[in-house]
Formats: sequence, structure tokens, C-alpha cells
Amino acid sequence: MPDVVVIGSGGAGLAAALAAHAAGASVTLATKLGVASCNTAKAQGGIQAAVGPDDDVETHLADVIASSHDTADPALARRLVEDGPAAVAWLEGLGVAFTREADGALRLARCGGATRRRLLQVGDRTGHAIASALRAAVESADGIEVLDHARLVALEPGRATVERGGERIALDHGAIVLAAGGRCKRVAEETGELSTNGDGATGEVAELAVALGCAERDHDSLQRHPTGAAWPPPLAGYAVPETTRAYGALLRNGRGERFVDELAPRDVVAEAILRECAEGRGAETPDGRPAVLLDCSPVDPADADISLPYMLRRYRKAGIDPLAEPIHVHPVLHYQNGGLVIDPDGATTVPGVWAAGEITGGVHGRNRMMGNSLLDCCVYGRRAGRAAAEAVA
Ligand SMILES: Cc1cc2nc3c(=O)[nH]c(=O)nc-3n(C[C@H](O)[C@H](O)[C@H](O)COP(=O)(O)OP(=O)(O)OC[C@H]3O[C@@H](n4cnc5c(N)ncnc54)[C@H](O)[C@@H]3O)c2cc1C
Repeated sequence: MPDVVVIGSGGAGLAAALAAHAAGASVTLATKLGVASCNTAKAQGGIQAAVGPDDDVETHLADVIASSHDTADPALARRLVEDGPAAVAWLEGLGVAFTREADGALRLARCGGATRRRLLQVGDRTGHAIASALRAAVESADGIEVLDHARLVALEPGRATVERGGERIALDHGAIVLAAGGRCKRVAEETGELSTNGDGATGEVAELAVALGCAERDHDSLQRHPTGAAWPPPLAGYAVPETTRAYGALLRNGRGERFVDELAPRDVVAEAILRECAEGRGAETPDGRPAVLLDCSPVDPADADISLPYMLRRYRKAGIDPLAEPIHVHPVLHYQNGGLVIDPDGATTVPGVWAAGEITGGVHGRNRMMGNSLLDCCVYGRRAGRAAAEAVA
């Protein structure tokens, strides 16, 4: 019987498994699809941490609280930002090579709602780089067993049951960390909206946890990424990274006018786009769907080469050069703001059950800032994994 069972192989689950292992626990990590399948690996833009010369954790905290419109849990948000610089150092130690300027300084961008340049990047495949490094560390650790294609189907005190290859396997444990991400893929399928999320984001683990007695908060609060690709069809639902706007891209309506501060908090930008479309000032896609235009021409091509290469490649492959012509964008379902209630060590309200990452609520309140979710996975994944291991010991 493992000391600690971890559910999910995204950033939060991998970080939790590593932390529990480092604290001396034997760990079994079960994940629904392939081990590499998670939203974490899809993250492009970057991870926030107060590491810049003009920045500090109090400023980061103030930005989180303001962007959440005072709905974030202050104690959870404080832990998030306070652990930020150490989380970045930990990732670097695991081999994540954050993009640096010619003088060796970390390349930092200012994202929506931030008052400082605080976003560290690995080109525009930051999540992929982080997930790959964490996965390599998990796979090389002696004492972490990984069960892929093992879907959690039942949760009881001290026992998690997974289904794998048609067989049900009972994983008895001393403690469990739930890190199964959000549910935006399922919601999108139910409502017909586009979503940026991968196939694993279906939310059943949170439902099992709530049935077990875990408290939840802000369940109704779902975030829309302001700039989902609306055209061409092969890119529908692709999240055009917020770093386009961080490096100067402008939003324009159908009349060519700007209508919002491009680096306002995410919900403000998304609502402004929806308003332009609803009030007849949008710029319809060639097939008649509502959209506005993202004008990337102000982005310095040198910045685009360093920080947006994946985005450029995807559009150019589809026959559009975003630096030469404006692209059609519209908000798409992206992130579950609400989730399981946790304390600053990731403990849920049910003894023996910890949680981390997008499955939890409160860290970001009802409006998450870009870059703080990858940070959340590392900070709260590590906290939950360590606390779960210590509780068993
Ligand atoms: C396109 C895109 C771009 C993004 N860009 C950024 C960004 O630039 N910066 C940022 O900070 N955030 C970004 N985000 C958000 C961020 O990536 C995610 O919120 C975060 O990585 C979630 O991590 P997680 O570990 O909680 O969940 P995930 O990474 O989604 O992992 C959840 C895991 O749980 C597994 N699972 C689900 N159900 C079960 C089950 N029943 N049994 C077993 N396993 C299960 C899944 O298969 C998966 O492995 C982006 C998200 C997307 C989709």
C-alpha cells in the first residue's frame, strides 16, 4: 500500500508526487490518459513570480487580489506569491531553461492585471517545458509508481478506485492528493462553446471529492480566455497567448478602433470583446462568426521570434502571417476559477485528502491572472505533496 496516492499527471500532480517522495513517502500516481496528457503541457505564455529587480511579493500579491476583484483568499494568494521565487529556482534545478536576454537576465513580460514585468517564459511553450521536466523527474524517481490510463472512478476514506484496461484497482493509501485539473472541456461539449482545454479536463474527480464531503467554492466561476482563435477553422479554440498583448499587440473592433486596455485583467478584456460583438462593432470571421481583431503589427519581430515562435508557426502553417495581418479572435472557455476549498498546505476539508492546482478554488478568486496557474501547480502541488507525506509519517 503506498503512503500517498496522487491523482493526475499535470503540473500539480507531478509536483505533489515529487514533494511527497522527497519527504520520504512511497507514492503511486494514477492518471486518466497518457502520462503526458494534461492542460499544463498546453500552457504557452509563462509563469509569474516576483523575481524582477523592481518587483516584490507584496506587489505580486496586490496584483492577484486586485485582478480577482477582491475575491481571492488572501492567505492562499499570499502563499502563492511568497513561494514563487523558490518555485522558479526549483524548476530551474529540474532543468527548465527560462528564456534569458542577451545579458543573461531573465526575460520578463507584463501580463494582464500586472503592474510589473513578472512573467517568465520558455519561448511560448512554457507549460510544455515545465511538464516535461517534472515528468522526467517523476519517471526517474525510485519510489514513485506511475499508473497511466487509470481513471479515478470511486473515492472512499483511505481508498481510491481506478479503472485500468477494464479492471478496477483499489489503491489503499495513507493520504491522497487530488490534482485532476478543471472541467472546461466537458462544459464546452455540453454548451457547444469552444475551449482551449484537453480531453482530460472533465471534472469528475472534483465531483467524487464533493460527494466524499469536501467543501467547494465559486463552482459557477469559469474563465474565458479573451483571445481564442476564431479564424481560420483549423485553429478554432487555440488560445492566442496573452504574451502577444504583453509584447504590444492591440485589440481593434470592426471599425479599427481600440476599445479596452489590452493588459487589463482577463475578465475585463473578455467582457469588452463580447460587448463589441453584441453591440454590432465586431469584425466577423469570413464564415460569419462574431470576433474582433488582434493587431500584432506593433510587436517587434525580434520579440515575436523569441517569445511567440509557436504561435507564429501555427498561424503561418494555416496560411496567415499574424505580424502582417490582423487575426480574428473571440473569448473561449479556458479555466475553472472555482474548486475544492483548501488551506495554505493544500488540505481539503476532509481529513486525509489534499488537493492542488486547477481543481481547487480560492487561490485566484473568481478571476485568475495569466501565469499564476502554472505557479499554483508548483507551489500548491509541492505543499500538498509534502503535507500529505508528513501526515502519513
Ligand atoms: C491552452 C492553454 C494555455 C494556458 N496557458 C497558461 C499560461 O501561459 N500560464 C499559466 O499559468 N497557465 C496557463 N494555462 C492554465 C494552466 O495550464 C492550467 O490551469 C494548469 O496547468 C492546470 O494544472 P493541473 O495540474 O491542475 O491540471 P492538468 O494539467 O489539467 O492535469 C490534470 C490531470 O488529471 C488527469 N485526470 C483528470 N481526471 C482524472 C481521473 N478521473 N482520474 C485520473 N486522472 C485524471 C488528467 O488526465 C491530467 O493528467 C493554460 C491552459 C491552457 C489549456
